[in-house]
Amino acid sequence: MNENVYDTIIIGSGPAGLTAAIYNVRADLKTIVLAGEQPGGQLTITTAVDNWPGFPLGIGGTKLMMDMQKQVTNLGVEIKNATVSRISNFKLQSANFKIELIDKSELLAKAVILATGAKAKWIGLPNEKEMIGKGVSGCATCDGFFFRDKVVTVVGGGDTACEDAVFLAKFASKVYVVHRREEFRAAAIEQKKVFGNPKIEVLWNSEIKELNPPDPAVAGSPSLDKEGGDKLRAVKIFNNKTNEEKIMPTDGLFVAIGHTPATEFVADLVNRDPEGFVVIGENKDHPMMTSMAGIFAAGDATTINRDFRQAIAAAGDGCKAGLDAESWLGSQSL
Ligand code: NAP
Repeated sequence: MNENVYDTIIIGSGPAGLTAAIYNVRADLKTIVLAGEQPGGQLTITTAVDNWPGFPLGIGGTKLMMDMQKQVTNLGVEIKNATVSRISNFKLQSANFKIELIDKSELLAKAVILATGAKAKWIGLPNEKEMIGKGVSGCATCDGFFFRDKVVTVVGGGDTACEDAVFLAKFASKVYVVHRREEFRAAAIEQKKVFGNPKIEVLWNSEIKELNPPDPAVAGSPSLDKEGGDKLRAVKIFNNKTNEEKIMPTDGLFVAIGHTPATEFVADLVNRDPEGFVVIGENKDHPMMTSMAGIFAAGDATTINRDFRQAIAAAGDGCKAGLDAESWLGSQSL
């Protein structure tokens, strides 16, 4: 038997991928998890997780994922730090799919479970990406510590933006939340924490139009520091109700405007919706199967979890995808 042939190759190591792995290895399937660019997934960059049942006082996101990884490896699943560049379908050496990795190595699989989750979205301002690490961040829990006693701005109106604002208020002297509408979409409990925090001010109907706008007269700007002039010092804010623009000094900009599914690498292989979520739920015999027989999907990258995007829902989908892949493999003559 070719050592590189797996019954299931699971792509992604968040709650969806790791739960699928638990079910597959317990079904005696030769299983490997390819951990991807962010091993452990999005929970590794959150703080306390209060909505995972079984932890009366909540649990840290990183701790939860590390324990899940240990559980999976204890059960005998290999977790490989690898990122997939391409999947192609063919029949060779008892396998259906060839998985090409970024390091140019290849693995073969009888079935594949896509559990690649989603990546943070950016606003799309011209110098936004250049400013990452110079004041612009997509991860408050990773970078918040560097903004002690500074002024920071969070963009977005969902759970992430509200959680980020509250987290950042522990370090920063002032936190602005810039939201394009006049109500948040975040859960009521998260909104309450924002409204109750004296360090946080919400700017409704507001959009960020520019980073470091060329206006030298920024009153009270935290401005250029001794480390150089390429750091973020101000943002231009546009009020879409009054059409007013203002320049607001800020040292940090935390972008928390949602996520896009990490599914580009399977664009030619499986059906996706216009936003890139992998379509599942259309095959009545195999509800977790994609448009390609033998490729299953679970978690935030799929159409069925796109409106929920909860870790616990992703884990539930991972369970279903693992069981569905097992049942499909049982029906194949490989
Ligand atoms: P989200 O719920 O999709 O919210 C994104 C926010 O960003 C929305 O308020 C949206 O505005 C705004 N936005 C989107 N595109 C924008 C743009 N180009 N410019 C400015 N603003 C923009 O994303 P999320 O907060 O990351 O949450 C994702 C999912 O994870 C949700 O299901 C959430 O419940 C879940 N989550 C849960 C927890 C928790 O339970 N503890 C924590 C974090 C996240 P509009 O409102 O106007 O559309």
